[in-house]
Amino acid sequence: MYKVYLKSGKEESLKRFHPWVFSGAIAHFDGEPEEGEVVEIYTSKKEFIAKGHFQIGSIAVRVLSFHQDENIDSDFWKRKLSIAYEMRRSIGIAENPTNNTYRLVHGEGDNLPGLIIDIYARTAVMQAHSAGMHLDRMEIAGALSEVMGDKIENIYYKSETTLPFKADLYPENGFLKGGSTDNVAMEYGLNFHIDWLKGQKTGFFIDQRENRSLLERYANGRSVLNMFCYTGGFSVYAMRGNAKLVHSVDSSAKAIDLTNKNIELNFPSDSRHAAFAEDAFKYLDRMGDQYDLIVLDPPAFAKHRDALRNALQGYRKLNVKAFEKIKPGGILFTFSCSQAVSKENFRTAVFTAAAMSGRSVRILHQLTQPADHPVNIYHPEGEYLKGLVLYVE
Ligand code: SAH
Repeated sequence: MYKVYLKSGKEESLKRFHPWVFSGAIAHFDGEPEEGEVVEIYTSKKEFIAKGHFQIGSIAVRVLSFHQDENIDSDFWKRKLSIAYEMRRSIGIAENPTNNTYRLVHGEGDNLPGLIIDIYARTAVMQAHSAGMHLDRMEIAGALSEVMGDKIENIYYKSETTLPFKADLYPENGFLKGGSTDNVAMEYGLNFHIDWLKGQKTGFFIDQRENRSLLERYANGRSVLNMFCYTGGFSVYAMRGNAKLVHSVDSSAKAIDLTNKNIELNFPSDSRHAAFAEDAFKYLDRMGDQYDLIVLDPPAFAKHRDALRNALQGYRKLNVKAFEKIKPGGILFTFSCSQAVSKENFRTAVFTAAAMSGRSVRILHQLTQPADHPVNIYHPEGEYLKGLVLYVE
């Protein structure tokens, strides 16, 4: 196995179990590893400290193990996937009769940096974010079949857009197992069509499950605007929560089709719902003041640290419009899913927006990602979803 030697002092973060080695921390290589290969990491004093997938880029190694004698083989994948499954079973997320939509593997949060596996009923959608996970995909799929047994019939691999283009890998999306086109899955007793073939991410934003469920509790008798609705998740929960009316808005016509299909699946011919394909800012400008529950769940405004300023401005502009128009006594669910935007940054942007509108605003809840998207305590960067539920007088 190839060896990577760190510069003096650069082992500190690994000693605290942080799972990344930045390229700037590397003194030299022993040999010339290929992208995606497993390499051993040594301190400047030539002591073993970790092993992981090598990749060309600013994150040079993603750590898989801190034990020299732990081989990265099919037993390793089986062990890791079993731990991930058992955690979700023991907290009532897997093997739940009302819910078969959950994240089984959340990258660093499950000590598997670069790997995402989402479960939709009998289909697992697997996504590689590193060259190493891509190269190991068949072994991982085999381990997944063994761990899940007959609970899983299909494994769909979806990494065409998630691998670094520099890696020269060009993976094709497709089934590694099975091939079912039955794509309806259940989340807390509600049914959703999951578009894993063409949809964003693995087809659905599972990470909003608990927050959608909270919204259901507040929807009774309210007029709801679900802005950036995508597949209509928040809208379907608002309908079940007895909202007076629900309007879903997304700039993508495909998202609006999906939303209408999902409403129809759960609440056929229910005239309380309408969906509009329109830009968020335009809609917020032209709409009246009929809404007393508004959801703002925009795409990640900052994909990178250097886009932070613009992103915060975007959040501020968006939230000002909602504060200005929401009915007195209204409730605003506002989110950021940008990893580069901290909880404090987001709160400051929303605070500024509230002050600009002059409304009296109280924080009712501070929201984050659910337990099937766990944060590795040694990798705080993994906490990406931030939300506030606000009461606007
Ligand atoms: N709330 C959703 C996830 C939102 S993803 C859920 O719970 O599943 C973000 C969505 O914002 C995408 O569907 C994207 O099409 C939409 N979007 C991006 N830019 C937009 C804009 N300027 N106006 C309206 N929608 C936009």
